[in-house]
Amino acid sequence: MAESMFGTGGHASGGAQKHDHDRAHHHHDGDGEPCRHARERAAEAGEALARAEAICKERRQRLTPIRRSVLAALYDTHKPVGAYEIIDILGPQDGKTHAPITIYRALDFLIEQGFVHRLASRNAFIACPHGHGPQDLVAFLICDDCGGVDERCAPPLSQALVQMLAAEQFKPRHPVLEISGLCGHCSGKRESA
Ligand SMILES: [Zn+2]
Ligand SMILES: [Zn+2]
Ligand SMILES: [Zn+2]
Repeated sequence: MAESMFGTGGHASGGAQKHDHDRAHHHHDGDGEPCRHARERAAEAGEALARAEAICKERRQRLTPIRRSVLAALYDTHKPVGAYEIIDILGPQDGKTHAPITIYRALDFLIEQGFVHRLASRNAFIACPHGHGPQDLVAFLICDDCGGVDERCAPPLSQALVQMLAAEQFKPRHPVLEISGLCGHCSGKRESA
């Protein structure tokens, strides 16, 4: 039984959550051309959603309309987004905005199935099209400039970590590495500016 990663308490108290509307609205951030991350994400979306459907069927899980909409919303942007931004992106349904708990439940499911990751450093979520196992070490390279996130598996790093954890007899639940900085494209832009 997988336990929920989200206590309902902390997140439901709307006041503490930052409403960062600028970041929710993706494709038009500033100077025209979408960055590489935006193009990659847009290219992945269709196939990734179809694969999520197929995997759910195979596992006898239901990709309900809300779960699917949340996943689609995450593929609508190359930036990690918070639950409240997802609510904004989805907009009202039958005249009512989605309750945060509805979004968190959908996210819980999507994380459990390996379709989405939570970035602890941002309290935000990002779609994962890679279909790797839950125990694989993934490194997130988070660009502070364009907001893009590259997810990379690093086998040598993974091996070193597995050895270290075995020596400690520590059982990892979420082996995730989050590195913030400037992506290759953005750092090149800075140097040439
Ligand atoms: Zn992943
Ligand atoms: Zn960048
Ligand atoms: Zn980018």
